[in-house]
Amino acid sequence: MHEVSIAQGLLKILEDETKKHGVSRVTRVHIRIGELSACVPDALTFAFEIVSEGTVAEGAELKIEVVPAKGRCDKCDIEFDVDSAMFLCPQCGGVAAEIVSGKELDIAEIEAE
Ligand SMILES: [Zn+2]
Repeated sequence: MHEVSIAQGLLKILEDETKKHGVSRVTRVHIRIGELSACVPDALTFAFEIVSEGTVAEGAELKIEVVPAKGRCDKCDIEFDVDSAMFLCPQCGGVAAEIVSGKELDIAEIEAE
């Protein structure tokens, strides 16, 4: 499952961060995932609960924000919303040269005690 490897990666970052800052427990994690990252928030929450068991992040609340996908057309020099099925520029009908956002997976904030 895709989400399990994401949850493990997330946990690794949390363990590094908590070690660095000398905290013993993570209470809440705010992450941003792109609409196009093919990650299901519910599945990620579930996977995180499992992999964080017995770690500093056990019982931490996962707050997931989904970032909408945006494309950019070089020809028209505009940015526009895309969904997973459409990558076409609304102005010239061209295929988006670049996906500006929607694939990210970032930790926005970690709350710990
Ligand atoms: Zn265009």
